[in-house]
Amino acid sequence: MIRRIDLRGRLATGEVLDYRALVPRAPVDVEAALDAVRPICADVRHRGVAALKELTSRFDGVDVDDLRVPESVLHAALDGLDTDVRAALDESIVRARRVHADQRRTDVTTTVVPGGTVTERWVPVQRVGLYAPGGLAVYPSSVVMNVVPAQEAGVEEIAVASPPQQGPDGLPHPTILAACALLGVTEVYAVGGAQAIAMFAYGAGDDAGTGCAPVDMVTGPGNVYVAAAKRLLKGVIGIDAEAGPTEIAILADAAADPRHVAADLISQAEHDTLAASVLVTDDGALADAVEAELDVQVAATKHVDRVATALGGDQSGIVLVDDLEQGLAVVDAYAAEHLEIHTRDAADVASRVRNAGAVFVGPWSPVSLGDYAAGSNHVLPTGASARHTSGLSVQSFLRGIHVVEYDEAALRDVAAHVETLADAEDLPAHGAAVRARFTAGGVQTGGS
Ligand code: NAD
Repeated sequence: MIRRIDLRGRLATGEVLDYRALVPRAPVDVEAALDAVRPICADVRHRGVAALKELTSRFDGVDVDDLRVPESVLHAALDGLDTDVRAALDESIVRARRVHADQRRTDVTTTVVPGGTVTERWVPVQRVGLYAPGGLAVYPSSVVMNVVPAQEAGVEEIAVASPPQQGPDGLPHPTILAACALLGVTEVYAVGGAQAIAMFAYGAGDDAGTGCAPVDMVTGPGNVYVAAAKRLLKGVIGIDAEAGPTEIAILADAAADPRHVAADLISQAEHDTLAASVLVTDDGALADAVEAELDVQVAATKHVDRVATALGGDQSGIVLVDDLEQGLAVVDAYAAEHLEIHTRDAADVASRVRNAGAVFVGPWSPVSLGDYAAGSNHVLPTGASARHTSGLSVQSFLRGIHVVEYDEAALRDVAAHVETLADAEDLPAHGAAVRARFTAGGVQTGGS
């Protein structure tokens, strides 16, 4: 069911191994999707609400009268929410708040020289649009993971968009609406896909004066059309990242329990046929035992076809390595969205990982915990972007502004250096702007 990549003994022969190429990823062609979303975004830009309604009818098969979900509907969804689901969402929110509240930044003032200070002031983005996917599955947990850091960062205006579900009312899934109500979000739109991202980027109005005002930034996961629209409109808006199909890598040795390892590989394969599940181990017996467990557990899981396709795809596999050192090199090169460590001294091994969206340490920290209720954020970098990008956090919604304040003596003290560097760059007006403050008779730029 799952392929093997056996690297054992190959380093000893002097072979140079390109670990990134050896563990390939799912083919997600965002570039091709760009051609599909370009006209969608242009249409929303030029025709606003009218375009959004037509696109919603075409792609979601739903005719909506009002794109904005009335607040009364949000409250009704919360009233109708299953009590166990509400308790679970409440707990998820409390834990996420605890972690994200600790991520708030404080302004820092550095006295560079006497009389000369630079303050880094952290200012939240003013208005954000958060996307909650709702095509194949619905993700109220993603509402929590987007809204909580935005709120903890101090974002003033938060709007949420999620595709309308099939049915007469043309609303997003009731659990999405309930999660918004639970978090105090009142601006919610029944719009999905690329058109939702375009609505947030350009704003969308109509003759009746309804619609959505443009936002400064869009965050949240979505399918390839959502990712393509984010790539296309980056610059018009800020974006978090293009979250692609989910990935789990597990680094394990003989200490690992094959039942846990197999269950966790399956749990992420359940998301998507393109999801990647990768086990890296130095123990052949564990690899055999995990494969045997996969046979048993996959047959018993609900989404068996989706899981079997994901595990059987080229993007998934069991990588056999000489030792944990090589295992660490493989997982660092792969830079998984989620990395679990099932080894002896797991915390020590985890501390040596450089590249991962999030690391889950030891047998009691499965990725499923992080998906819902660890307190950590589950919007994480995929496709090896964990090499340079962090998961969603309070920091994602903040901008650091340098505030520079020098007094006369402090400027005078450094004026010659500024002028020298300005001349070296052939930008004499820069030097003149400083000199003008200390010479009578105005600005001389050195020009003719
Ligand atoms: P979605 O809400 O992202 O996309 C649905 C929308 O796609 C529809 O509303 C429709 O407008 C648009 N669409 C469908 N077919 C189209 C076409 N042919 N042309 C143009 N637009 C089209 O929901 P989804 O499809 O279920 O995808 C959700 C994705 O988000 C999954 O891949 C899932 O794994 C991912 N996800 C990631 C995370 C994370 O944190 N990384 C969390 C949750 C979900």
